[in-house]
Amino acid sequence: MQTATGALSVRGLCKHFGGVAALSGVSIELRPGEVQGLIGPNGSGKTTLLNMLSGYYPIDEGSIHLGNEDLTRATVQRRACAGIARTFQTPRLLPTLSALENVMLGGWRDARAGMIGAMLSSPRARAEDKLLSERALELLCGVGLAHALDERADVLRHGEQRFLEIARALAARPRFVLLDEPAGGLSGNEIASLGAVLAALKNCGIGVLLVEHHTDFVFRICDRVTAIDFGRVIVCDTPDKVRAHEDVVRVYLGA
Ligand code: ADP
Repeated sequence: MQTATGALSVRGLCKHFGGVAALSGVSIELRPGEVQGLIGPNGSGKTTLLNMLSGYYPIDEGSIHLGNEDLTRATVQRRACAGIARTFQTPRLLPTLSALENVMLGGWRDARAGMIGAMLSSPRARAEDKLLSERALELLCGVGLAHALDERADVLRHGEQRFLEIARALAARPRFVLLDEPAGGLSGNEIASLGAVLAALKNCGIGVLLVEHHTDFVFRICDRVTAIDFGRVIVCDTPDKVRAHEDVVRVYLGA
């Protein structure tokens, strides 16, 4: 398989939990600037794949590369520094901090003044704080949360929390973003806004892996879709071809 330049590529990934084979030889490639859907029934291995890509689970077999960089055994932090960011099925925010502060924390990688500099409010720490705050403001406006900058994360509505989590992931200036069911619980209008956010990420050259049960949304918004079942890839192709694939029709669409 030829690898696209700068792609996030996974080869032959295997993961067992005791006797359960959650992933059995999964290979996928996420290209810069593409939105790729990952669909499959419950228990097919979607979240396990995201956890392995982002470093939350060690790998039994297989490899993960971002461009030429081998991330197979890399820590969560190293993968984040390499440019991989993610969101979770249930947003993991700091509940008592404001939306702005949550997003600023997502930009930790840019901070150089260190803990002591921040505690002493050194000029460098103040300058960094200003930059982080400006960027967080820009990101929050970009995801439609300009009205909620100073609101505590735990008082935001469910949909707002989902967009806040995306903004926080983007604060790390990622090259690839892994989204775990971002449309879950969103209203029709919010799903339309999510589509606009994904299109903007694509325009910026960011690759998005979209794990989502909302198949209509996936087929409408994605450049390519990977369908998995029982920890194996069934097909990876354009939305039209995946939607028409006989195993996908049988397994996912209930026909
Ligand atoms: P999906 O996200 O597609 O619903 P998962 O990746 O959550 O699927 O799960 C794939 C399989 O791995 C399931 O059989 C699930 O029970 C199992 N599994 C996932 N995480 C764990 C874990 N931490 N411990 C044990 N089994 C797990």
